[in-house]
Amino acid sequence: MTPVPKTQYGFVYNTTSGLQLNESLPIPTLKPGQLLLKVEAAGLCHSDLHILYEGLYCGDNYVMGHEIAGTVIKTEQDEAGAYKIGDRVACFGANGCGNCEFCRKGNDNDCPNAFYNWFGLGSDGGYQQYLLVKNPRNLVKIPDNVDFAEAAAITDAALTPYHAIKLAKVNPLTNLLIIGAGGLGTNAIQIARTFGAQITVLDKKQKALDIVKKLDPELKAYTELPEDLAKGSFDVILDLVGAQQTFELSEKYVKSKGIIVPVGLGASKLTFDLSNLALREISLLGSFWGTSQDLVECLELARQGKIKPQLHTISLKELPKAIEQLRNGQYEGRTVLIP
Ligand code: NAD
Ligand code: ZN
Ligand code: ZN
Repeated sequence: MTPVPKTQYGFVYNTTSGLQLNESLPIPTLKPGQLLLKVEAAGLCHSDLHILYEGLYCGDNYVMGHEIAGTVIKTEQDEAGAYKIGDRVACFGANGCGNCEFCRKGNDNDCPNAFYNWFGLGSDGGYQQYLLVKNPRNLVKIPDNVDFAEAAAITDAALTPYHAIKLAKVNPLTNLLIIGAGGLGTNAIQIARTFGAQITVLDKKQKALDIVKKLDPELKAYTELPEDLAKGSFDVILDLVGAQQTFELSEKYVKSKGIIVPVGLGASKLTFDLSNLALREISLLGSFWGTSQDLVECLELARQGKIKPQLHTISLKELPKAIEQLRNGQYEGRTVLIP
């Protein structure tokens, strides 16, 4: 076994005191079947801001950071199943138990036993140096040509839009609007492209669109939708903001029989125009994170070069600065923290 220190630093979230750096967090001892990861990269998601500043509740008193990639450094000999020391792995954040009805049917993102026990959301996550993995089924090996920072971003910023795009059955005939081209959106575009969709992107920030244009100079990308764009233009709208304003825009521009997927958690409640939704038979599709099989598929798309997360890395100690930048819109793509 690789020797590990007894303590580490990490950022603990508490609903009363907020997010605080703790320089002497204990490193847990392993029980049979568990393993310890050295966290190599952890992505900063906008959901973290909703928790820190907007009252989104995801449990109390845990190390935040739910986009995690790391190296297996310690196992309880022969008990950790498929993993051995030195393996490069991505965490399946939704942390399914593996045994319940939902997990057995392949919907481990909806596992009721994992509710508020998700990595970095209710249970300890990646804003620390070492992470205890109680159930190694929730790890996926990272392909050799995908680096840790990319893998971390893929566990959510790619996985979440991938799941939503699959749920909405996006295909080459789909006229798709993606609202929000940040961490999730920049991956959503690449994923939708592999599904063959006709893509339009909307982001209020020109800098976000500059990145998008680098990904695909031909892409239709706007800070405001063109005035002459007809109502009911899109079969599917992926709302990666989830504010009342973007939801109303989605209601207006989705086709009759179309689908709105409000992935973004920008508003705690949304109101909709029932007559519009009912009379035009619009579907509202809830979509949460992604399944562990979706994560396997996303990492395979990354291995094939079809998903390349747009990101920059900074030291984990700079997390408070990165959070402020995210709050102020001074970032593009994903920020990934390196312990
Ligand atoms: P981000 O901050 O990286 O990106 C958001 C983008 O939306 C930014 O580029 C911003 O300029 C743009 N934007 C904001 N308001 C806008 C508006 N009114 N009109 C047009 N563009 C606008 O955020 P992210 O990390 O990509 O997360 C996006 C959302 O998805 C967040 O609300 C997050 O909580 C949510 N999320 C949900 C799930 C899920 O499982 N449902 C998973 C992960 C993240
Ligand atoms: Zn997230
Ligand atoms: Zn389960």
